[in-house]
Amino acid sequence: MKRILTFSLTLFLAFSLFAQGSNKPVIGISSGWGGGSSTSAPLTYVESVIRAGGVPMVIPLTEDPELLAAMLDRVDAVIMTGGEDIDPLRWYGEEPVPAMGSVVPERDAFDIALIKMAVGRNMPVLGICRGHQLMNVAFGGTLYQDIPSQVKGSSVKHRQKAPNYYGTHTINIEKGSLLNRQIGLEKVAVNSYHHQAIKDLAPGFKATAYSVDGVIEAMEKEGSSRVSGVQFHPEGFTSNNINTFLGIFEHFIEEAKVYRAEKK
Ligand code: MN
Repeated sequence: MKRILTFSLTLFLAFSLFAQGSNKPVIGISSGWGGGSSTSAPLTYVESVIRAGGVPMVIPLTEDPELLAAMLDRVDAVIMTGGEDIDPLRWYGEEPVPAMGSVVPERDAFDIALIKMAVGRNMPVLGICRGHQLMNVAFGGTLYQDIPSQVKGSSVKHRQKAPNYYGTHTINIEKGSLLNRQIGLEKVAVNSYHHQAIKDLAPGFKATAYSVDGVIEAMEKEGSSRVSGVQFHPEGFTSNNINTFLGIFEHFIEEAKVYRAEKK
């Protein structure tokens, strides 16, 4: 009898855990490509999603649209992660400048297809660093390929050598913008690991935060609380238990819950 009781209790607990887990939204995290031998995402994104109450799911790199659609069917939101420079010639028609960094053509194609499909479905999408720049390019915007050589009068160091949980330059955030509502601040110090930045904004998007040299540090899709980008790395703080930017992920996961409910 005791054994049966223990067994039933175990089953009940296992079922409760499963049922609880299944109600959490699943957050797709875009992959980087390790030269054909790996497709992976940094743990900082994974940990931030978990901390904010979501279930992380790394989306492996593929250019097959049918496969991509099938993978998107199984997630409730997508985070576009940081990484390499986006090929300026192919994606926004500019010749490369001497200081342009490394480019991964396969990842560009995967990321552009993924973000267009996700936004087309009205899924919540959060772009971080490269993901934020990519969002702009995917919807018709352009980039500065290299801030130091292209942004006139830029006096801010955007490639910090401090840890990723440490802010080195400030940004001013527009009052009432999505980012302002998410973190409750109009000025904050952010980390910075980029040498590219948004130049011309894509139609339908607006800038919501700037560093003091005028570089766009956040944007959002007009009329939507689901699609936005940040140039800094909130996951660096969040995964290190610093809560300044946790609200970005918490808000994103709330949006994913709404999308999940709409889908059913
Ligand atoms: Mn910066």
